[in-house]
Amino acid sequence: MANEDQFKKVISHAKEYGYIFASSEIYDGLSAVYDYAQNGVELKKNIREYWWRSMVYMHQNIVGIDAAILMHPTTWKASGHVDAFNDPLIDNKDSKKRYRADVLIEDYCEKINKKAQKEIAKAKKRFGDSFNEEEFVATNPRVVSYIQQQKEIIERMAKSLEAEDLADVKLLIEELGIADPLTGSKNWTDVKQFNLMFGTKLGASAESAMDLYLRPETAQGIFVNFLNVQKTGRMKIPFGIAQTGKAFRNEIVARQFIFRMREFEQMEMQFFVKPGEEMKWYEYWREKRLAWHLSLGLGKENYRFHDHEKLAHYANAATDIEFNFPFGFKELEGIHSRTDFDLKAHEKHSGKKLQFFDHETNKNYTPYVVETSIGLDRMFLAIFSNSLKTEELEDGSSRVVLKLPTILAPIKAAVFPLVKKDGLQEIAKEIVADLQWDYNVIYDEKDAVGRRYRRQDAVGTPFCITVDHQTKEDKTVTIRFRDSMKQERILISEISEKIKKAVSYKSWLS
Ligand code: ATP
Repeated sequence: MANEDQFKKVISHAKEYGYIFASSEIYDGLSAVYDYAQNGVELKKNIREYWWRSMVYMHQNIVGIDAAILMHPTTWKASGHVDAFNDPLIDNKDSKKRYRADVLIEDYCEKINKKAQKEIAKAKKRFGDSFNEEEFVATNPRVVSYIQQQKEIIERMAKSLEAEDLADVKLLIEELGIADPLTGSKNWTDVKQFNLMFGTKLGASAESAMDLYLRPETAQGIFVNFLNVQKTGRMKIPFGIAQTGKAFRNEIVARQFIFRMREFEQMEMQFFVKPGEEMKWYEYWREKRLAWHLSLGLGKENYRFHDHEKLAHYANAATDIEFNFPFGFKELEGIHSRTDFDLKAHEKHSGKKLQFFDHETNKNYTPYVVETSIGLDRMFLAIFSNSLKTEELEDGSSRVVLKLPTILAPIKAAVFPLVKKDGLQEIAKEIVADLQWDYNVIYDEKDAVGRRYRRQDAVGTPFCITVDHQTKEDKTVTIRFRDSMKQERILISEISEKIKKAVSYKSWLS
């Protein structure tokens, strides 16, 4: 319940402080579609930039592209999306609510996992320093049984989905006694497959119009451009192509704010490698991507890997980096070893060769691909929800503060005149005029300075700079730090350097 409250707070804070609005809100919104507001757009842009720099600028063998959202329809036939981009859905006959059958089963397993974690935590407390967690997990009968139960359920589900045995998926839901989370009803329909792609049309007349899809992932724009980039960029294997952009999925269940949207943004990188070397690179990117997440300081304990039992039709290994969202651990990023499935499929459907010529062996081959794929909006939610804190202060009051990583904060500094007279406003405006060449900064003169600090705490601004009467005498200002609330007196000429140090990509990314 506490988590549910926290999630509600996140959603209302995102609206109140100009981060996220429901799409077309004046018409009561559009389900699972959202608009990024004045601060949200900045945070989102900064996350995208943080990813782009680490992937593209920091790797001499990775380049970026920006492919179109609309692609030739055969793309989606080749990729398997027309035939297999389905989710198994199930309806509850009483509540008329629709669910993803696999998610209902996974949530059930997560409950079993929570029981196991509870046992482990209890034992940890009991045995103190002498506790050997690995041994306990392997030998405690209760924990062993919980882990076994989960494994069997997931394996059975994976097998049935693989074999398209949807009747068994329903049977599994019934055998486990899974009820509608909202109403408790166990009155289920059969499980059906549902294709997630949005269709659209290209062309003016109804007869000649061509059926198209809005891309459900950005990856295919990279595959179809593989040879163009390789040739024009003179790229040698291994090399990567990165892309960020919109993707569209007609999600069955979309009730978790920006976690599951129908229009969202992905940040993907496809890394082309020699066949046989894919597992080495898969391990490499697993570690590399986790390190990227950890660099933001949201807490190591909030991440975990989840290796896939059920592999997508194109993959020979896959893992998710899961994040501890306010509603529990869920997928944030996928790392997939996609084999040569996509390039081979596009070769077959287009009749064009998509191979790499190896000058050392004088032979052509189709590269294997390791993909890293993260949802920008999910990353936004991870950062935003983790950063929102309510703190009790020494004087008994409390403050709401958004402790965003400084490098990602939408507004880097707010500049205040202490009072609206004696020339303090002019000095503050001059400081803004100077800083805005390099940073997104704002000027604020409204209300008492304490209230202005609180307002910036809630927006997540890391630095507040106040101009007072002493400024006129010695050209110093106070700089107040969001997280510690400590204040320092520094020279006006030192402000820019101070911010620069705090937002250096080098220090954050390394
Ligand atoms: P899920 O199992 O949650 O539906 P997925 O496995 O289908 O996700 P991928 O196809 O691997 O997701 O997409 C890569 C990334 O894109 C995901 O890790 C996620 O961060 C993001 N993503 C996927 N679907 C959505 C969505 N509907 N809304 C927001 N982000 C999404």
